[in-house]
Amino acid sequence: MNQLNDQNFQNQRAIIRVDFNVPLNEKLEVTDATRIVAAKPTIDYVLQQGGSCVLLSHLGRPKHQEPEFSLKNIVATVSEILGCEVLFSEHCVGPEAEALAQALQPGQVLLMENLRYHPEETKGDVDFAQQLAALGSIYINDAFGTAHRAHASTTIIAQFFEGKKCFGQLLKKEVDAIEKVMKNGASPVLAILGGAKISSKITIIESLLDKVDHLLIGGGMVYTFIKAQGGSIGNSICEDEYGDYALELMEKAAAKGVQLHLPEDVVAGDDFSDGANRKIFPVNAIEAGWEGMDAGPKSVLRFKELITTCRTILWNGPLGVFEFPSFAKGTIAVGEAIGEATRAGAFSLVGGGDSVAAVKQFGLETQMSYISTGGGAMLESLEGKILPGIAALDQ
Ligand code: AMP
Repeated sequence: MNQLNDQNFQNQRAIIRVDFNVPLNEKLEVTDATRIVAAKPTIDYVLQQGGSCVLLSHLGRPKHQEPEFSLKNIVATVSEILGCEVLFSEHCVGPEAEALAQALQPGQVLLMENLRYHPEETKGDVDFAQQLAALGSIYINDAFGTAHRAHASTTIIAQFFEGKKCFGQLLKKEVDAIEKVMKNGASPVLAILGGAKISSKITIIESLLDKVDHLLIGGGMVYTFIKAQGGSIGNSICEDEYGDYALELMEKAAAKGVQLHLPEDVVAGDDFSDGANRKIFPVNAIEAGWEGMDAGPKSVLRFKELITTCRTILWNGPLGVFEFPSFAKGTIAVGEAIGEATRAGAFSLVGGGDSVAAVKQFGLETQMSYISTGGGAMLESLEGKILPGIAALDQ
């Protein structure tokens, strides 16, 4: 792996691809600066080593050059977090951008305008990547959130930095965390998969079957399994077309020696709302008019017992409709049990969209070993894919 400390940054301009794709409110203020905070260690390192930083990022999905997607909107926040002045370039390529980059002194930081103001970025255009490459002498990728995209600034640019490219600290931490689960996790290894749809998790499940000792399936996916086995699921969500697949998966898990865990009881609602009436049913005997929306108390107890015996835990997807407090108990209990296991020495990785949101919402962030900053990139890593942004650094 090409490490940050393999490079000499003294009097060098480092191009750092960061992920500053942060949420903004209607006043165009940053509402969650997690990603900027996460990029700080790499930037600090380059500055401490006597270099300067040219920061490249995208923000949102602009169609034209809409001002609400300008990275100018975040300059003050970036400056506050880094604790130094941040210069801004209205263009990310071209003569003006190059002149501003060339004028940088060691210790200075320059943030370039939104890469996605140029359609060439997402097309992975080689000429555009070469223009970006002209901004500095060393290339660092620290944007795990876009490492699964073969875009100009995340992948294509790397070819212009033979021997002068490396992983940023955040990217390295993400890759290490995934490897700790997928390659060298201490056993027993447990994957907890929740969320709404089995169809969106098939490739992950398949890839995990070769890595884990236990697979816990929760959330809305459960009912496709239960119905396929002949159970009554009332109004619970179900992907009938994946019923055969669910049965096949159970066989595959058994053949591979993976223990599959499904909830034995559920908390159901008579309406898809927080205020719905609630009733507990065995998972395979939900009455008509009721919809399974959370793991039931017996399941939660059993899940807790399992989780606290495992030494490597991956969590992707909530155990119920956690957005409704009335149906959040299973997700919270599982999160807390992972926290307990982690305190007892297990390695826990939380990744992929809604489970990260749930962990944050319930204040469980400090209880996990690692929380991934990249949704899609994390999911593709779990599917066993080699991310193009990472492969480009190794070539
Ligand atoms: P995913 O993006 O696939 O991880 O799905 C996350 C979503 O699944 C969340 O918005 C949850 O509310 C939803 N979800 C979890 N359990 C259920 C359930 N039993 N019924 C319906 N939706 C669910």
